[in-house]
Amino acid sequence: MFASSHSFGFFDYFRVPYRLTSARPGSAFGRLWLAGDQGGPSLVWPVVDPVRGPAVREALPGRYAMERFPVFGHVTGDRVARRFLAGWGEGGWRKAELVTGAGGREVAAVWRDGAGNVFLPFDPAEVMHQYWSEGYKGIGQPALRRALRPALVRGYYGIRPLLPRAAQIAARRMFARFQQRPEFPAWPVETALHDFYDWLFRLVADFAGRPVPWLAPWPAGYSWAIVLTHDVETAGGCRDIELLRAPERAAGRPSGWNFVPLRYTVENDLLDRLRAEGCEIGVHGLRHDGRDLGSLRQLRKRLPAMRAYAQRWKATGFRAPATQRNWSWMPMLGFEHDMSYHDTAPYEPTPGGTCSYLPFFNGTMVELPITQPQDHTLFTILGHSDAQVWLTKATEIRKRGGMMLVLTHPDYAGDPRVAGGYRQLLDSAAGDTEAWWATPAQVSAWWRRRAQSGVALSRGGWRVSGPAAAEGRLLFAEPFAEPGVPAASAAGNTNTGGRGQHARPARR
Ligand SMILES: [Zn+2]
Repeated sequence: MFASSHSFGFFDYFRVPYRLTSARPGSAFGRLWLAGDQGGPSLVWPVVDPVRGPAVREALPGRYAMERFPVFGHVTGDRVARRFLAGWGEGGWRKAELVTGAGGREVAAVWRDGAGNVFLPFDPAEVMHQYWSEGYKGIGQPALRRALRPALVRGYYGIRPLLPRAAQIAARRMFARFQQRPEFPAWPVETALHDFYDWLFRLVADFAGRPVPWLAPWPAGYSWAIVLTHDVETAGGCRDIELLRAPERAAGRPSGWNFVPLRYTVENDLLDRLRAEGCEIGVHGLRHDGRDLGSLRQLRKRLPAMRAYAQRWKATGFRAPATQRNWSWMPMLGFEHDMSYHDTAPYEPTPGGTCSYLPFFNGTMVELPITQPQDHTLFTILGHSDAQVWLTKATEIRKRGGMMLVLTHPDYAGDPRVAGGYRQLLDSAAGDTEAWWATPAQVSAWWRRRAQSGVALSRGGWRVSGPAAAEGRLLFAEPFAEPGVPAASAAGNTNTGGRGQHARPARR
């Protein structure tokens, strides 16, 4: 449908069809146009190489904002943009939407001209990467807070083993209070990244002047996904597995169970019983002492043992204890998929959040973000008395066509708020025929098939091609309600995944 001088990460992710033409080496701007319409309008953006950085030397890295979402990364400011635009297009360039910096200062803009050309002041692929990798945490933060956070995390892990359980919880509560003023990501719902996707979809559909096909995130016509996972923290958790497994079994749902190899004895019988019910086994660090991923040196030392247990348990998935994580280390672990990132987690010992309700790749590894607050955080640390937050978040994820990945611990399921809340959550989606109940490995395998598949034109219609051809479904992104009118002034809720008003199932 489109042709492009450079790979366009947003299209790669959503599997929007485009043909890559040979790029002029060293060109600082990428150009996208409607295939077969060489003289028609173009969409231009500054190319940012993930390793070498931006090709536009004057692009400024930082935290910026558009009307409905923050933008992280390199932004091409107005001065450079004007110089570039002077030599391109029909003239009559105007600012269609503003990009602001600290204190609301206007620094850049999305520009349009009368002929339909569009200039984006950032590389969407870089912005997506900053969200997924939580790279935004390192840019444009006030220096003091940046310095303080890691010190606090170190302090917490340093003293934790010395404290009795009650004091540990008190320390976590205190820690949570310090973190209680997060401007970003918002909790329990942060829609920034999905608002960004929606906006980009409408922008390109508007630019194309027609609906843009893409490959739905879920197979077989399901509009959202539900993934149940558990971390078993202690021998007590092993003993109490039934507190969570019994309601799942009653509902006919399999789940993923992550065990710590060297903290307690993991009986083979238990693993066999879980596997026999369709459940999966995963690896949850090695010792769960705050040091499994404490440093690269420590990780390298412990990794061979983790890998050995992964093979023995036939485990393809990993979750880091206390979600300790590092973007560049995770693919080294050698698992098919990781589940150590949240979409939003300001109250965890390692705060942050990818803002993503969908899986994404980190190298060759599939990342499946946890998209519900953890049981212990919700009930014990924040003191909620019921599952309302879980139910509200489930509604939000369903509306956006995302993946609800739940993490609960049998160790805490003696608390009736945890066990009861979990049953309520399972019940709330019991009759939902649009929900794909899947295990982590099933989602990870599907996400790989999807990434190797595309949308192709055949016999006059769009079809899914590649390994996902049989189960994949098409969705179409619609243009802005009025040409050129940005998302904020159009209807409120958009949908990157499901069946909202701006995405609809394929029509033959
Ligand atoms: Zn754990």
